[in-house]
Amino acid sequence: MTPENSHDLRLPNRFLELYTPEKIHGDFVGKHIISVEQFESNDLKILFDATASIRKRLKQSDRGLLELCAGKIAVTLFYEASTRTDMSFQAAMRRLGGEIVAASNGVQFSSVYKGENLADTVRAAGCYADAIILRHPDVGSSYEAAYYLDKLREQIQRKPVIISGGDGVGEHPTQALLDMFTIFDFKKGFDDLTITLVGDLKNGRTVHSLSKLLARYGARDVTLCLVSPAKLKMPEKILAELKAANMRIVETEDLSEVIGSTDVIYWTRVQEERFADPAEYAAVKDSFIMLPSVLAQAKPDAILMHPLPRKNEMGTPADHDLLDADPRSVYFQQMENGMFVRMALLAKVLGGLWV
Ligand code: ASP
Repeated sequence: MTPENSHDLRLPNRFLELYTPEKIHGDFVGKHIISVEQFESNDLKILFDATASIRKRLKQSDRGLLELCAGKIAVTLFYEASTRTDMSFQAAMRRLGGEIVAASNGVQFSSVYKGENLADTVRAAGCYADAIILRHPDVGSSYEAAYYLDKLREQIQRKPVIISGGDGVGEHPTQALLDMFTIFDFKKGFDDLTITLVGDLKNGRTVHSLSKLLARYGARDVTLCLVSPAKLKMPEKILAELKAANMRIVETEDLSEVIGSTDVIYWTRVQEERFADPAEYAAVKDSFIMLPSVLAQAKPDAILMHPLPRKNEMGTPADHDLLDADPRSVYFQQMENGMFVRMALLAKVLGGLWV
């Protein structure tokens, strides 16, 4: 049994209805981070100020950063593949003087292999750690983890937190935070921005979280263009939220209609692992390919983002090299921002000293 085939990837978890994540309201200490719905604009401002300060201090090799999570331990529980989220959380914790622990041979060789359920594995981690970084294939799994950790809190009189590193096709809140920081950093705000999300808007959790966060933060200022094949459109539930926030939305299958007026291009991978039928994946996988000739149609001051990893949606490795050399491509800076934002978040949530 592997964790992947022991879960129905499509079934939303009942804890999505049962558990309401606590709003941040300016105070991050001890809060689970499981949805962008917890954040208001003031929370983003606090987090982004902290992120900018951490970035500066890190570049100055300020050893004081090592105090911020000294004595704290985070556990990583990754039931799905990860490179950036896993490594950036590990690096973030260590750069703040904290420790990070993982099941020695990966979570699939922990008691998960013996059939232990998420509720119990998460509580085991909570017994040892102050923070648990969870990535799991089920939508709402982080809500389930938070629900059971709250029960554990009463028993152990300590407050371990869950931080979602992505739950199936649901949300990826910390990715959205780093994406927002990157946009803010390059564009110095959101006034009058046109942001275009391209690719698998149905299964991509990063675009779900980012668009929801944009609706909460910049709804009045941003025009959001959603470009996807008809079969990979943004889910209706999220579209309804965006419209309720009075966001200007343009939905199209034709990138050329919007690329020339776009300030932020957010390119995404077709999420192969979410397709039950390989033929369905094959039919859509090449719908949008970012190539130098496509980027040539963008504004000179546009930025090109991508949550990564990339496959054929950015052409061949030779195309990658050409795209990477274009100063508008900021996905490596975006990636580095992931560590800065996660450092700020860990320092805030774990209640480290703050200056
Ligand atoms: N790394 C991102 C995620 O975990 C994007 C992707 O996998 O396409 O959702």
